Amino acid sequence: MARKAVRRKGSERPSATIRTRPAPAGKGTKMRKKKGTTPSSARGAAKRHRGTEGGRGRNKTKGTERKPKLTEEGIEARTVRAGRILAALRRVYGQETTTALVHENALHLLIATILSAQSTDETINRLTPGLFRKYPNAKTFAEAPRAELEADIRPSGFFRNKAKSIQGACRMILERFGGRVPDTMEELLELPGVARKTANVVLGTWFGKNVGVVVDTHVGRLAERLELTWTARNAKDAVRIEQDLMIVLPQDSWTFASHALIWHGRRVCTARKPACAQCELAPYCPSAGTFA
Ligand code: SF4
Repeated sequence: MARKAVRRKGSERPSATIRTRPAPAGKGTKMRKKKGTTPSSARGAAKRHRGTEGGRGRNKTKGTERKPKLTEEGIEARTVRAGRILAALRRVYGQETTTALVHENALHLLIATILSAQSTDETINRLTPGLFRKYPNAKTFAEAPRAELEADIRPSGFFRNKAKSIQGACRMILERFGGRVPDTMEELLELPGVARKTANVVLGTWFGKNVGVVVDTHVGRLAERLELTWTARNAKDAVRIEQDLMIVLPQDSWTFASHALIWHGRRVCTARKPACAQCELAPYCPSAGTFA
């Protein structure tokens, strides 16, 4: 009983301007209570999306997943602490920190981000220079023989799904958006293979619009360890993590915070071996020093 009371307290919203979040699928239903009864439609959806955004990955972080502690920290205190974390990230990474994905235009960034799902930025940066020379625009991607494009992006993994997404997105960019990558969340989400993570990368990094927070595997893990999320079920619960981060971080910091947390997750707070002793965020991190 005490656990429930504490969690409700931490979940209070500061004002009516906070956006509502959709109820988790199946919450409170009998189906959810039965173990091992994932609906076949959900299993199918996960399988279909494997290799594109939101899909299940093979890079498990076994042994390091932790349930968020149920602290009594309220929204105000958490927001103050988030501000200190943000300031530390600015000191360490600089305000201009950005994505590691090499790109020259919005289309390149969109395609590189689609390709980066379940892969590494290093792999994608080795792949894209040749790819973008061969396919310089949306038309060439859209008209490429599918098998040839699949072969060209094979090193990124899940190449069949990714080729399908890239061609679908490029066709829609040509047919619906006049050959230009759209610059609104609503329009980007219409593109095949594009969900909020990719849309946030493109909007924040190329168009300079702070519409949301990019929640990839690093941001999810750090949000949980730093206890900047209090509603997420785990570090992969990107929708809730993003919504919590959007509450405790100022909007003009969303893109910066995304990139800085990604860099910090790669360099310091890694999945298997977080270097708490060297971490600039340790004074503000409830998980500091808790990893054996
Ligand atoms: S103190 Fe440790 S757990 Fe917290 S952010 Fe730094 S490395 Fe990660």
